[in-house]
Amino acid sequence: MFSFISILQYQQELSQNTTSCREAVQHYLERIESGKRLNAFTEVYSKEAMERAAQLDQQRKDGLPARKLHGVVIAIKDVLCYKDHTVTAASRILKDFTSVYTSTAVQRLLDEDAIIIGSCNCDEFAMGSTNENSVYGNVLNALDETKVPGGSSGGSAVAVQAGLCMASLGSDTGGSVRQPADFCGITGFKPSYGRISRYGLIAYASSFDQVGIFGTAIEDIDLLLKVMSGPDAFDSTALQNTLPEYSLAMVPDKRYRVAYFPEALEHPSLDKEIRHSIYHTLEQLRAAGNPVSAVSFNLLDYVVPAYYVLTTAEASSNLSRYDGIRFGYRTPAGTYDDLGGFYKKTRSEGFGKEVQRRIMLGTFVLSAGYYDAYFHKALQVRRMLVNKTMDLFREYDVLVLPTSPVTAFPIGDKSGDPIAVYLSDIYTVFANLTGIPGIALPLYRHSNGMPFGLQAMANKEDDVTLLQFSKYIMGNYRLNQ
Ligand code: GLN
Repeated sequence: MFSFISILQYQQELSQNTTSCREAVQHYLERIESGKRLNAFTEVYSKEAMERAAQLDQQRKDGLPARKLHGVVIAIKDVLCYKDHTVTAASRILKDFTSVYTSTAVQRLLDEDAIIIGSCNCDEFAMGSTNENSVYGNVLNALDETKVPGGSSGGSAVAVQAGLCMASLGSDTGGSVRQPADFCGITGFKPSYGRISRYGLIAYASSFDQVGIFGTAIEDIDLLLKVMSGPDAFDSTALQNTLPEYSLAMVPDKRYRVAYFPEALEHPSLDKEIRHSIYHTLEQLRAAGNPVSAVSFNLLDYVVPAYYVLTTAEASSNLSRYDGIRFGYRTPAGTYDDLGGFYKKTRSEGFGKEVQRRIMLGTFVLSAGYYDAYFHKALQVRRMLVNKTMDLFREYDVLVLPTSPVTAFPIGDKSGDPIAVYLSDIYTVFANLTGIPGIALPLYRHSNGMPFGLQAMANKEDDVTLLQFSKYIMGNYRLNQ
């Protein structure tokens, strides 16, 4: 019986011939089949995954050296292009669209001999927090199938949560990796903006978007990050520096200067048990010799409005390409009078409600009469937040926050109240507005039975410190709760 603990352990087993890539893929295909009702996948590449597994098994038999992700079974969110495979962003407007090239993130996984097992369900164009905005329907939280898995990368989160793959990719524009990780009880990492190339990632809000990683062991996330990161000629916003090879192996008895925002922990929207657990961990950190300080943050109430003004503005521009002419869904001939009518019909039929709402909001905040009042103001807030992070990380190594104010809630509970859903992004959007890395670490369980985690952030480009801290936390605190 195949079981997975970490990539390192799997690869050791492969080299000892106690398992094979075929056995691993077979195992995941069976689990995906028996977990079909979770609706985590939009497509499963069964045949080609099995074929690739057989090739890799043969390569080991032939004594060829194994690459870094040899046989690692990975699922990707349906917003990442993979040549000759369907990519739809869970939208009707891209239904049956086939990628004509492969995203850099996926290409780098393939180059290290990873096996891509399928694409995962998500909120349409990565807009949402519940996975209820998908043309393929809801994804179910495997721990309680009446609850949402979070979003927008809900399918990728459940794929790891339910053991349907070893690790998965999502995208995080405002929390879409960290929040579903929190709701599902797994680890979700959003690297610094630019750490992983966005080439081939379907754009939602380009100055926020970042590929993120779901996994079990911090070492696995670290390995995937190192494989995918680095400069890319196809994305000028990709960071130019590369990460040190053995950064996690070298974590000594390091202590961390930890900051937290009292305004965040005292926010009225935060669930009491979540607040209590985070304070408790901060106490434990302090007791273990890490200086922990409260740092005042008076801009908390501005982060969600600034995020929704800026991201919808960028989305309204990015999504203008879906016009029914160049690619994707097209309204049937004879149902419109002129070109304007054609665009309107195509886009009204092709985009779901939430995406339409955001395109309209974004168009509004960019319009001549409102640009200064909304878009420009939000840019100013963003600048102030960036200044805040520069000050903060001069004195501290990490910032600790909750990930979400609540645990996973019942499907349908908030579907009629978009503002309530937007407001629940209060703890995650800060990292995207400022470009710093953030991670959700699965530490706790609520008395309602659902998991939740601690979120940590570090300075821009300092993904290494964040992963070192994560390893420290998971090693020291997981069992102490
Ligand atoms: N919930 C946020 C939103 O709806 C996050 C989206 C994301 O990170 N892709 O915009």
